[in-house]
Amino acid sequence: MAETDSTPTPRGTAGYLTPYPYLDRLQEKMEERLARKVPVKGRFCGFCYARLRETDTVCPFCSHTVELAGTVDEIPQPVLAAYKARQRSEALWVYLSAFVGLIAASVLFVVMVLWGPGILGHPALAFTVLIGGGYLLAQVTGPMLGGQVGYRRGSRKRDELWAAWLKQRDGP
Ligand SMILES: [Zn+2]
Repeated sequence: MAETDSTPTPRGTAGYLTPYPYLDRLQEKMEERLARKVPVKGRFCGFCYARLRETDTVCPFCSHTVELAGTVDEIPQPVLAAYKARQRSEALWVYLSAFVGLIAASVLFVVMVLWGPGILGHPALAFTVLIGGGYLLAQVTGPMLGGQVGYRRGSRKRDELWAAWLKQRDGP
């Protein structure tokens, strides 16, 4: 039975500390698998489903011995679904925030053209602000603000799904 009782505290990346650090380390690998950039079949850790090398006797991700955890030749679908939930949440929040940034730049553009005094009301300057500011806002609000929210929400969701999987697999 894994430690499911450790409560996430506002530490770690973006204010969320996963109770399962190996999931964070596996996230990128699992996204490669989800995108089918790596073979579906292989030799995977029987506990955390990390891909193992032939020479591994201890899993480099969850530290279980291969002898104890065993191996499987494919990652179970519910496990992949957990990683996908995190990936989706992160992408969604990045896009949403970038969109909000672009809207903000568009509003500023309209305000400048309609009410900007003197040079500030010149369409050319307002247009520069729209493009430059929109780009900047999308860059900042998307990955930085949205990415953080998405990371937190997505990680929490993934960890819940993983906890449910452990419970189902290993029993209470
Ligand atoms: Zn493992």
